[in-house]
Amino acid sequence: MAQDFTRAYAETRDASDSLAPYRGEFYLPQDGIYMDGNSLGLLSKRAERTLLESLSDWKELGIDGWMSGRHPWFNLSEQLAALNAPLVGARAEEVMVTGSTTVNLHQLVASFFKPEGKRTKILADTLTFPSDIYALKSQLELRGLDPSEHLVQVSSPDGRYLKEEDIIAAMTDEIALIVLPTVLYRSGQILDMARLAKAAHERDILIGFDACHSVGAIPHAFHDWGVDFAYWCNYKHLNGGPGSVGGLFVHERHFGTTPGLAGWFGSRKDKQFDMDHTMTPADDAGAFQIGTPHVLSLAPQLGALEMFNEVGMDAIREKSLALTTYMTALIDEVLAPYGFVIGSPRNETQRGAHLSLEHPEAARICKALKQHRVIPDFRAPNIIRLAPVALYNTFTDVYDVVMTLQTIMENKEYEAFENVREVVA
Ligand SMILES: *Cc1c(COP(=O)(O)O)cnc(C)c1O
Repeated sequence: MAQDFTRAYAETRDASDSLAPYRGEFYLPQDGIYMDGNSLGLLSKRAERTLLESLSDWKELGIDGWMSGRHPWFNLSEQLAALNAPLVGARAEEVMVTGSTTVNLHQLVASFFKPEGKRTKILADTLTFPSDIYALKSQLELRGLDPSEHLVQVSSPDGRYLKEEDIIAAMTDEIALIVLPTVLYRSGQILDMARLAKAAHERDILIGFDACHSVGAIPHAFHDWGVDFAYWCNYKHLNGGPGSVGGLFVHERHFGTTPGLAGWFGSRKDKQFDMDHTMTPADDAGAFQIGTPHVLSLAPQLGALEMFNEVGMDAIREKSLALTTYMTALIDEVLAPYGFVIGSPRNETQRGAHLSLEHPEAARICKALKQHRVIPDFRAPNIIRLAPVALYNTFTDVYDVVMTLQTIMENKEYEAFENVREVVA
């Protein structure tokens, strides 16, 4: 881009942004700038409406809300799965909105990890989200396998990025299952899922992905890439609300696999209320549900997901990249002299939807940002994550955040705070 570092330039970009009208759909913090949509997406008016409608159904209908509410609860998970499917490149039957990220990982590993003979190990990486590693270790322990031997974690040469070659080299004949992130939660690196899935299958290994940082942020083609399974949360880029119900994908070639953790909501819907003690699992991804859906944590997704389907992931990705590329240029120009390092891929094809800004004083710089009513997030020990979100952030937001950081550094405002993280960072 022609290097123009004026605020007027940012305003010009906003004026020609076709997604600009969506900003008005969200409740934005008053006189502040929200840059944390990768941790908790904001409430939209549509999500609020569908939540309140479900609440009224409960108020007015009691138990009948299951079948005759405005959004009948009995089929709500399936309805939301159909809205999630285009975002992950899946058939509607391959997706289910259920559980939470970590619970879905437990379910999928319980269902698809089948140690046999020499193949008894799970392959993951050293940069992934801790909850995933806790879940994998406990799944191994439940099978009587020692995690220190049976969990293999590919390491990163620089602490930021993973190399697909290293991951492929670790796909030995002792590996039964691979679990990797789609987008790394710190650096925002996108892994080449198609390449990894192909390499895994050539070696008879199953592969699943944690899509928390990619769903709603980048397009996917889980079905065509042949990914075996995936799971994600709907409260980050998808704006489903705090603790909103998660999502899972199971490739249709695995339909009929017995769920590792069975429960009555995994039944075929027409059989569920037979109350038979022999379960008849659904013949699609619905089989991996466990118990009664958390209706009030599903309901906001109806409104929230509508917007993603209206706009389409390609348009969201295009604006998201425009925002992060613009932010990268501004940071290079304005913040590099203060010792900031961009710890995210500069190459657009490898970059997710946030930028990771590294600085030794990151914890207290974040506190100073909050005092200026800019909401970032902090990841120990030295990362400020900034997520300009396509549906509700502007180029002017990006400009103002970078200039606020410059003010904080220039005046050493961060020195007024302690350089330690808060409880929820
Ligand atoms: C946010 C996040 C989780 C959170 O899991 P929950 O079960 O929803 O708490 C897991 N994995 C990754 C990569 C995440 O970013």
